[in-house]
Amino acid sequence: MKLNDITILENQSLAPYAYTQVGGKVDYLAIPKTQLELQQLLHWAKLKEQPVHIFGRLSNLVVRNGGLHGLSILLHDLRDIKVDQRTITADAGADLIIVAEVAMTHGLTGLEWAAGIPGSVGGAIFMNAGAYGGQTEMVVTAVTAIMPDLSIQIFKLSELEFGYRHSIFQENSGVIVSATFTLTPDLKSDIQLRMDVNNYRRADKQPLNYPSNGSVFKRPEGYFAGKLIMDSGLQGTRIGGIEVSKKHAGFMVNINNGTGNDYEDLIHHVQVTVKKKFNVTLETEVRIIGER
Ligand SMILES: Cc1cc2nc3c(=O)[nH]c(=O)nc-3n(C[C@H](O)[C@H](O)[C@H](O)COP(=O)(O)OP(=O)(O)OC[C@H]3O[C@@H](n4cnc5c(N)ncnc54)[C@H](O)[C@@H]3O)c2cc1C
Repeated sequence: MKLNDITILENQSLAPYAYTQVGGKVDYLAIPKTQLELQQLLHWAKLKEQPVHIFGRLSNLVVRNGGLHGLSILLHDLRDIKVDQRTITADAGADLIIVAEVAMTHGLTGLEWAAGIPGSVGGAIFMNAGAYGGQTEMVVTAVTAIMPDLSIQIFKLSELEFGYRHSIFQENSGVIVSATFTLTPDLKSDIQLRMDVNNYRRADKQPLNYPSNGSVFKRPEGYFAGKLIMDSGLQGTRIGGIEVSKKHAGFMVNINNGTGNDYEDLIHHVQVTVKKKFNVTLETEVRIIGER
């Protein structure tokens, strides 16, 4: 189906687009190439009364086997990055890893923690992604979003309601279109070294050779999710094609054509086992959506 110059695919699986390689079919799927196309798609969905689902790299998301109704929009083709002195303004679909690289090549520090996070700028804002002592909220100064009434709104840092893996977009249904990061000048070689150290630590601890969602659970107050899972003897436990990683207990890896439902079932099994053994409730950092 065509909407102006935009192709809208019907009955399409999300799995090939997902970092996890899982996800059921969606009614409609579109990949806008410009902000105008994104606006046209949102307008179309509103007219047709279709629910809208927005995705970056699907690196923090499990879509169940039954898929999603309505229009799913993948933003990975909106990926412009502009540098102006100490600020970088990046489209929502830009890779966080590329934005961190661009910052380094311009001698700007503040994004070294993001050098190994395989998500998009939009996903990082939505989740307030962070690692190794850094966090999105420390460097973002403004975000532009399209709101459910299709108006364009600019949010200042103080309006973004950042918290641990939380931003205002988890409540207001805004579609993030771009973000501005304000950074600090520093020596390129020092920035590169910090990025390399972070990425070395990541490769040493994390099962990066398999598709995953990174850490599945939020850090419970006073505990580490990975340690609780390890001490519950759950590493290597498998449901369908998804396994609790033997390398990092906080990760679940897709080792053999796992599905969204396998993911959800394994998450539930881990939550029940840890609750029974330690009386700690593990809350998911990963978002699980769609029909069973
Ligand atoms: C190997 C690995 C390592 C990881 N390490 C880390 C880490 O160190 N720290 C960390 O915080 N996370 C980590 N993650 C998780 C993930 O990469 C981050 O949460 C990332 O920010 C998600 O971005 P995404 O584009 O993949 O979002 P998606 O998974 O596509 O979406 C996540 C949520 O954000 C919403 N969303 C995405 N884009 C937009 C937008 N433009 N407007 C409105 N809503 C939007 C989606 O609707 C969804 O609800 C890791 C994941 C993997 C696979």
